[in-house]
Amino acid sequence: MEMKEAGAHSLTYMNYKGEFKTEMVTHVSSLNSGARWIDLTKVKIPVGKVAFVQCPTCKSDNWTDDSAHMQGYACGGCDYEILLHTDEKLLTKVDNNV
Ligand SMILES: [Zn+2]
Repeated sequence: MEMKEAGAHSLTYMNYKGEFKTEMVTHVSSLNSGARWIDLTKVKIPVGKVAFVQCPTCKSDNWTDDSAHMQGYACGGCDYEILLHTDEKLLTKVDNNV
């Protein structure tokens, strides 16, 4: 299977008003891994696929912004929390959403 660099990942989450929002993100960190940031744009995925931010424990892509942290998002499936960061420079360079 032909692989490509994923580029920015799509994150869909429900905000505190119950509205669904989608953002493109480039870096993820878990609250449990000592704030080690993973560059999502370097992840390899099959050509033709769009990359979503998935929960590392339950594989859900269903997030809420129900977190005590400014950049934090909580998994809708298992409450696992992640931190997200978007590097605007990488966002313009790689875009897998088209
Ligand atoms: Zn989960």
